[in-house]
Amino acid sequence: MISHLEDPITAIKGIGGETETSLNEINIYTVSDLMEHLPYRYEDYRLKDLETTKHEEKVTVEGKIHSQPTLGYFGRKKSRLTFKLLVGRYLITVTYFNQPYLKNKLNINDIVTVTGKWDRHRQSISGSECQLGPYRKEKEFEPVYSTRGSLTVKGLRRFIAKAFSQYGEHIEENLPQQVLDKYKLPLRKDALRRMHFPLSANDVKQARRRFVYEEFLFFQLKMQAIRKVQREQSRGIQQSYKLDRLKGFIESLPFPLTNAQKRVVNEILADMKSPYRMNRLLQGDVGSGKTAVAVIALFASISAGYQGAFMVPTEILAEQHGASLQAMLDPAGLKTALLTSSVKGKKRRELLHALQDGEIDILIGTHALIQAEVNFNNLGLVITDEQHRFGVEQRRVLREKGESPDVLFMTATPIPRTLAITVFGEMDVSVIDEMPAGRKTIETFWAKHEMLDRILGFVEKELRQGRQAYVICPLIEESEKLDLQNVLDVHAAMTQYFDGRFRVGLMHGRLPSDEKDVVMKEFSQNDLQVLVSTTVVEVGVNVPNATVMVIYDAERFGLAQLHQLRGRVGRGSEQSYCIMLADPKSELGKERMKIMTETNDGFVLSEKDLELRGPGDFFGKKQSGVPEFKVADMVHDYRALEVARDDAAKLIASESFWKDPEYLSLRNYLEQTGVLNGDKLD
Ligand code: ADP
Ligand code: MG
Repeated sequence: MISHLEDPITAIKGIGGETETSLNEINIYTVSDLMEHLPYRYEDYRLKDLETTKHEEKVTVEGKIHSQPTLGYFGRKKSRLTFKLLVGRYLITVTYFNQPYLKNKLNINDIVTVTGKWDRHRQSISGSECQLGPYRKEKEFEPVYSTRGSLTVKGLRRFIAKAFSQYGEHIEENLPQQVLDKYKLPLRKDALRRMHFPLSANDVKQARRRFVYEEFLFFQLKMQAIRKVQREQSRGIQQSYKLDRLKGFIESLPFPLTNAQKRVVNEILADMKSPYRMNRLLQGDVGSGKTAVAVIALFASISAGYQGAFMVPTEILAEQHGASLQAMLDPAGLKTALLTSSVKGKKRRELLHALQDGEIDILIGTHALIQAEVNFNNLGLVITDEQHRFGVEQRRVLREKGESPDVLFMTATPIPRTLAITVFGEMDVSVIDEMPAGRKTIETFWAKHEMLDRILGFVEKELRQGRQAYVICPLIEESEKLDLQNVLDVHAAMTQYFDGRFRVGLMHGRLPSDEKDVVMKEFSQNDLQVLVSTTVVEVGVNVPNATVMVIYDAERFGLAQLHQLRGRVGRGSEQSYCIMLADPKSELGKERMKIMTETNDGFVLSEKDLELRGPGDFFGKKQSGVPEFKVADMVHDYRALEVARDDAAKLIASESFWKDPEYLSLRNYLEQTGVLNGDKLD
């Protein structure tokens, strides 16, 4: 059924030729496209009280002309019309440039409505518009649209008005009545009209409220539907793990689990036992004990007769995790193996054979794990650490390595709840929101670069007590464009400074990987006391004896990244310190440094980061996967987002959603997106 609204825009009187081209350039092809081209802001013509109007703010005031307007010319054809205006108890000066014709219309003692920019210091308004007579209410707001080419905002307003007079009655409702009633949302046709032709601020507010909810609900319906389809279509493995053995293993760990760890372990085990394929995100701050949870899940899978895979983003991490997993799993009689690009030749062939024969229980490695030559015998569980670093495609390939192994994604980058439920809306999410007892909070300081001497003195004091330190710089080598510290220079300077007392190592991404391994090993064995590095040590690296983290040019890094870097210390029992060297110029930069010194809570920081940087930047440009909404704003409308998510989940789970006529428009929408046919699963 093709509705009238799908008519081409040329069906609207006056649109054709150049206007059509300009409209097409902003993706407006049909009548409904035009009607849904919403204003991005409004001119506000409401009367304002000058008392509360800020300097240079735009105002509309009504007043009585207090002096006969005088007109002067200057330059060529330039004119200035000036008069005094009595606005309440303010006597102000009003000036209109280049509108000489107003002179004959304005007389002393006339009432006029003036719109313009308020100069608080001069008590004057530089007028842009003038309306004779008292303020008339029908023009409180005027929409402002994005335009292109020859198209003006006024032109667009006219076309949209025409579209409404020709087609306004055809706008169909797409939300169920019950939802409209529940949240007292205006009908779609009314809301659209109010967005374009608001009579009051409240009109816009109510209309906006509706579209925010509509956008979120549709988005979340899609996510929840994907989740449902994934579950039902996944012939997951029912992993019958041996509970007794698992309990014994957990008791053999050197520490009791925190309550949060227990909770997420239970969530994961329930998924593993279920006939569905697990698709779960495990979030937990740095040091919250995710690795222990991963190890328990792996143990469970092995006890059920399967193999496990553990994938990490860098070789350094693969080695570290390899070692710590081995330390925990070897005593339990499980066989772990490490596969990185440096495992070559005969050794590699043997390893791959053993894996295929099922002699290896757990394979740990980088994305080398997903190469075609790697075949498991019976893969039951895949865990990826720091999953946001992996592309969607890599994740998919790995998942397909087994029959349909359960998949657990782990991340130490706390993702604000709002982002988690949009970007990962189709996943189940577990959160470790509690730190193991007895952790000392890391003391964080912010210092100017000029205080370096004192800071080095402090570092030295720690080194003398047998501790170690990281020094992080943003660049590898000197740059002409950027006035930032680089690891090569800083390494040279530190080597000289600590000469004969402590050994200083160098680490950055361009070192060959065997060299990196050597450096990491030396640092973890305390053969090196200071490690000057780029952010390659950001994720997961674990050297408990390191107690000082110095970060050069800290204002260059995002809060989440600073928090990750800080998480490299405070991993042992000693008090640890993080010192950020930064001379931020902007208020925002100062604010960010301050927040770092005030909280150690990764979730608080991530919410702040989102607020300061916006959703698009949160994950970095490349693989954000953050959806774009026309009206809604994930940060400011997060409450609506949570409501919409709950509603969507309930709808998808209910029987009536799939058969009642009331939900037809929502079902049609899902039909169109293709998710019900199993498309777009990733
Ligand atoms: P994450 O991977 O979340 O950053 P890890 O799993 O590496 O954290 O754990 C950090 C440190 O805390 C490790 O040294 C680990 O042995 C220890 N740890 C983990 N769970 C507990 C616990 N429940 N009680 C005490 N220490 C723990
Ligand atoms: Mg970890």
